[in-house]
Amino acid sequence: MPIVNANDLNLTEYMAPNKDGIQTYITAVDEAVQSGRYEGPLTTRCPECGTRFHDLDEAYEDSEHIIMTTTSDTMAVLVGCEGYFVVDPNGVGIPSPNWTPAEHYGYGI
Ligand SMILES: [Zn+2]
Repeated sequence: MPIVNANDLNLTEYMAPNKDGIQTYITAVDEAVQSGRYEGPLTTRCPECGTRFHDLDEAYEDSEHIIMTTTSDTMAVLVGCEGYFVVDPNGVGIPSPNWTPAEHYGYGI
């Protein structure tokens, strides 16, 4: 499933310092979702700013988040606008003992 936006990984200032980590993470999430190893949760809402993407057009126009299509007409936010990994990296094979669910910060998904 392709990344909807940020094709050339034009990362926000928050994401740029972790470009390699983000690339690895995106690939891992894509593979895990496609293979069925990861079944969710996925969300269309960025837990950092609260923006919810209602359709692919909105996602395509966005430049603050990294968003992946999950079916022909649905998508999921993978990286929030401040660099938060929305999908649990531990669930897609990237050991991340310090990752904390968004709910912990009161953001919710
Ligand atoms: Zn955001």
